[in-house]
Amino acid sequence: MTCTTRLPKPVADVWDWQIEGSCRGANSAIFFHPDNERGSARSARENHAKQICAACPVLEQCRQHALEAQEPYGVWGGMGEDERRKIIASARRRLRVA
Ligand code: SF4
Repeated sequence: MTCTTRLPKPVADVWDWQIEGSCRGANSAIFFHPDNERGSARSARENHAKQICAACPVLEQCRQHALEAQEPYGVWGGMGEDERRKIIASARRRLRVA
């Protein structure tokens, strides 16, 4: 479940980038896995989503949001769940060391 305390405030300026997203109007099932999806089906769906992200004009804003909010599910900013988890875990380790 997403922790809403990490989400930006509900101010339009903070969320405006989403209006420009290449995924706007797309089937959300491309970006979020159904229950029990595994293996090649999951890879194919994620790759499709990442292809859409690759041409997105707000990829950087989307990726930054997903990392800051620690979005647990879906493809955001061209990154899948596992990729985000690794970056977030690495950042936590660096903070503990510092
Ligand atoms: S980067 Fe991907 S998920 Fe993010 S707004 Fe663009 S198309 Fe949508």
